[in-house]
Amino acid sequence: MSSLKLKNYFVAGTVALAAFSCSGNVHYDPDKDHHLKNGFKTKTDTSFTDWLFMRFKEGDYPSIDPEQVQTIIAEADIKTINSPANVPRATWVGHATVLVQYKGINYLTDPHLTEYPGPLKMFAPERITSPALSFEELPKVDFVLISHNHYDHLDLPTVEMLGNSVVWYVPLGLKSWFLDQDIAAEKIVELDWWETDIFSENVSITFTPNVHWSKRTLWDQNQSLWGSWSVQIGDFNSWFAGDTGYDEQLFKEIGKKLGPIDLAMIPIGTYGPRYFMLPMHVDPDQAVLIHKDIRSKKSIPVHWGTFQLSYEPFLEPPQLLAQVLKQKGIIEDQFSPVKIGETLEITDLSQ
Ligand code: ZN
Ligand code: ZN
Repeated sequence: MSSLKLKNYFVAGTVALAAFSCSGNVHYDPDKDHHLKNGFKTKTDTSFTDWLFMRFKEGDYPSIDPEQVQTIIAEADIKTINSPANVPRATWVGHATVLVQYKGINYLTDPHLTEYPGPLKMFAPERITSPALSFEELPKVDFVLISHNHYDHLDLPTVEMLGNSVVWYVPLGLKSWFLDQDIAAEKIVELDWWETDIFSENVSITFTPNVHWSKRTLWDQNQSLWGSWSVQIGDFNSWFAGDTGYDEQLFKEIGKKLGPIDLAMIPIGTYGPRYFMLPMHVDPDQAVLIHKDIRSKKSIPVHWGTFQLSYEPFLEPPQLLAQVLKQKGIIEDQFSPVKIGETLEITDLSQ
């Protein structure tokens, strides 16, 4: 039996068992539209069986040319990264992990610094490119933003590395998971959509909505929330999209309330096949719509080139992104790919 079939049968069996379990939402607030008595409301109604059907229909993932992989990797500038950032600075570590630095504050988005996204290596997708920074190479991190609990965004070994040395900003319903990993309660800030926490005098952090879902085990589907994050450090306004499908009204609301954004981190990959991924992952065309809706001045494309999770060819996301920007007459520099390990500096913050 092929490893793909074995993987599918294993997951199908365990998911069938999970169908018998259900739990209540201790955070339930009847006044909030996205709250349900037994979890949080998602627009994604595809089931595991749908995923299985899609995998059998589509077959093996497209093969990846190692030469293409080399074209998206750069050596990280460890010296610069470990020096003070007088202008905002962002380094793509890989997948949805970005190190953002400004005025003595360093934060990470969805850090994944290990080999594979999943509970077991044999059932996890392949990591195509290594993380650009190891834990030892990171500067002192002040806080971490977690968008949701999928394994490619919430990596237990990485959480254990960072431990209680950082403050963890997590979606509503995810604090208990962090407590179970021995993270101290005072190091976890759990927020609902549109709630804000003041990290320090100069730094405020707001959890904002997006279009996704959550699941980590057989019994916790949509039991914790998912979302995007807005971080204001002095005069620098940044935003991390997390994993998301597209919703014009929602992103325009974020742009209206929190824009303009100086730096956004927006996913461009994991969109194929479209008939399956549409409700949960934007394609490059929709990523550009988000860039405009939130009034971003500069965006970094993330969530591509790292884990094989979908069917689009390896280099298609940045290629399509470039085409879309050209079609829409947007200056390419506003949303151009950085390499894994590359550091982007925003030298024109006042514009
Ligand atoms: Zn996800
Ligand atoms: Zn993801």
